[in-house]
This record gives sequence, C-alpha cells and structure tokens, in this order.
Amino acid sequence: MANKYKAPRGTYDILPAESYKWQYVESIFCETAKIFNYQKIVTPIFEQTEVFERSVGDSSDIVQKEMYRFVDRKGRNFALRPEGTAPVVRSYVENNLNLSGGNTKLYYLGPMFRYDRPQKGRYRQFYQYGIENIGSDNPFIDAEVIAFGYAFLTKLGLKNFELEINSIGCSNCSRDYDDALVKYFLPNLDKLCTDCKERIDKNPKRLLDCKVPSCREIAKNAPSMLEYLDEECRTHFEEVKSYLKQMNIPFKVNPKIVRGLDYYNKTAFEFLDNNLGAQNALIGGGRYNGLVEQFGGKDTPGIGFAGGFERLMLSMENEGLSFGEFPRPDVFLVMIGESAKSTAAALLNELRSNQIKAEYNSDKDSLKAQMKAADKENARYTLLLGEDEIAANSIVIKEMKSGEQQIIGRENLIDFLQNRLKIK
Ligand code: AMP
Repeated sequence: MANKYKAPRGTYDILPAESYKWQYVESIFCETAKIFNYQKIVTPIFEQTEVFERSVGDSSDIVQKEMYRFVDRKGRNFALRPEGTAPVVRSYVENNLNLSGGNTKLYYLGPMFRYDRPQKGRYRQFYQYGIENIGSDNPFIDAEVIAFGYAFLTKLGLKNFELEINSIGCSNCSRDYDDALVKYFLPNLDKLCTDCKERIDKNPKRLLDCKVPSCREIAKNAPSMLEYLDEECRTHFEEVKSYLKQMNIPFKVNPKIVRGLDYYNKTAFEFLDNNLGAQNALIGGGRYNGLVEQFGGKDTPGIGFAGGFERLMLSMENEGLSFGEFPRPDVFLVMIGESAKSTAAALLNELRSNQIKAEYNSDKDSLKAQMKAADKENARYTLLLGEDEIAANSIVIKEMKSGEQQIIGRENLIDFLQNRLKIK
C-alpha cells in the first residue's frame, strides 16, 4: 500500500535513528546554559503578528516574505514564530522578568517557521536554540554571549567554524552611514537585484549582505560601517574585541555582517562553517538595545543569539563527530513458557524501578527467536527465565559481547547488574 500523505514541503520527521542525536546536541546546549547560569524559557509557537512586524521589521525578508500568517476563528491575526527573540522580549515585558534587578539570562529551544525555498540546511520548520541576556549594555556581556556560543560549539567537538564580528552602530551613527551607502549604491542602481532596489530606501545596510553575486560584487567596495561609528559605539566594539582576546576566542572583524532584522544595533556576530555551502551561518546574534522599550517595557538593553540545529548537525557529521550512542537496553529478558511470563512481568518492573533499562519480546515463544531479538536490540545482557530457573529461584545471565554465561540467585540479580552497569 502506498502512503496517502506526506509531511509538508520543507518539513521533516525526526525518526528514532536521528532523534537520539538531537537529544544529545540539546543536552550539550542545556549543559552549557547551566554552566553559564541561563534559565529556560518556553514561549508559544504563535504570537500576534505585530510582535514580529514591529520588531523584526517590515522591510525584513522574514516579515515581508517568510512569515506563516493566519487568522483565527475570531478574526485575530497571528503568525507562527519565525524567530525567538521577539517572543522572549514580549514575555520579558509582559511578565516583568526584570523585577529581580540585574541581568535576565534566558535560553530557549524549539521549532521556528519560515516560508522560504527549501534547500540543504534551510527548512520551513526548523529548530533553533538561542539565548538572550537582557539588562545591560556592558561590552562584557557581549563577550559573554559570544563566549557561550563558542563554548557550545567547542563542547560538541566542532573545529572548522569561524567567528565573525562587527559593530553596526546605533541609530546615531547609522544616519550618516546610511546616507553614505545610498550615495555609494545609487550610481549602480540598475545593476542591483529587485530586492536591493527596494531595500536601498528602507534599509540600505541590507545591501551589504545580499547573496546575489552581482550585488555582492558591487557591495565589495562599499564604505565600512566601522568608519562611521560614534565614540560610544567605537569604544564598545573595542572593548568587546579586547574581552574576546582575553578569553582566547579567535575572531575576524567582518564589516559586511549586518544581520537581516531591524532590531539589531552595536555588536553583530556570526559563527560560520564554510564547508556548509550557501547556508553557512551556524549561529547569528547581536545586540538589540531599544527592543524592550518597543514592546512597552522600560528602556533596557539586550543581546542574544540563535542557531539552527540542522546546520549544526550537518557540521558535526562533516567533521565525523560523535552524537553519543544509539540507546540500547541493558538487559533483554528471554522468557520460556507461560509461567515464566507471569514472573517476568514483575521482574521487568523490578529491573526498571532499579534504573536498569529492560526490554523483552512477548510475541516470540522460542528461545532462538528471542535471542535473535536480544541481538537486534544490541542488549548488553540477556536474562534467561524458564521453568527450571523459576523453580530454583535463579536466573541465567549471559553477557552478549563475551558470550560468558552464569547462573545467579534471583536475590542477587539487581545488585549484580547494578555493579556491572555501574549504576550505583
Ligand atoms: P537568523 O534568525 O536568520 O539569524 O538565523 C539564525 C540561525 O538559525 C541561522 O544561523 C541558522 O543556523 C538557523 N536558520 C535560520 N533559518 C533557517 C532555516 N530556514 N532552516 C534551517 N535553519 C535556519
């Protein structure tokens, strides 16, 4: 029979052969968050459309072309979240998370949605991890947020990534810079792509990160933002660089990093893996002073980053890194005969309540078929329970790797296994 339905284009199922890898990568991310003392936040996967329109920006690709919008039964406008920062800031303001004073350090994991042409490393439903550090404009914090990203990638064992940083200044420096950009690009207007032609009025910085080769060529000699930074932004950037150096975090300054979203200012950064091809950004982040105020909160600076799990895992695969082990049972219980089955039910419960991962196959009767199943499950030990063992209150235990087999008393079984499996 053929399947009737398919997962929607640009989405995919995470099947058991892959899901344990995801759990591994997620656990390393959560561990890093613990070490850096970030707390988990979970926000809804849909928000009022305005949450994104106002913050990410009307001129951004995300809002203009990529948002999954819908109207609910009462005619309200919602969007599936295309990114995580705006919802976190919405929640920060709504829930007064700043009340405790100091910085609020949050992390999140979950699906994001963007309607874009699917390709390798780009999906319509994809999974991001991210952090937000809200409450301070101190460059020390910028360095910490970048250090978190660096620590995470390093913990996974990745080596072939690069960190690129930039300062995109504040609205004060942007005014002159935007003018300079318009002046630079205008003579070449007819050679720019349609998107860039539109962006030149709304957000000229976006012309710097257009991926169309002819636009890239023109952008090559565009004036650099770094020459237009005001005193405060320049000092801020210098200090971020200096902290990164002190932490031995290698980086390159790339004045072309602008990030596609409106809410960014000052520090912008990306972790890139150039072996990934066109979709080479592993992590993207930056400062968003002013965003909290836009959401109705007190003027509060913030900085954060987000990365996609899919690309991260592609990078890990390219570098031949381990994702931990496919989960396997500690023991496989083979039961021979009907009376064994009733004893087995209690035994399985006992094993599991003592932290021993236990599996069985109740639909196969023969010893051979059950041993085959134990092999297939890659169990460490097989326990054999038949009429004789029940009568003697014992059990046969076989270590699958060595083939070594012995009989032990039932009362010693749990201790024996816990010692061997180093559970205690
Ligand atoms: P952005 O919010 O666009 O800066 O994206 C941050 C990170 O999320 C990127 O560096 C990617 O790792 C990931 N990402 C963004 N869009 C997609 C997508 N459509 N499919 C898969 N990963 C994505």
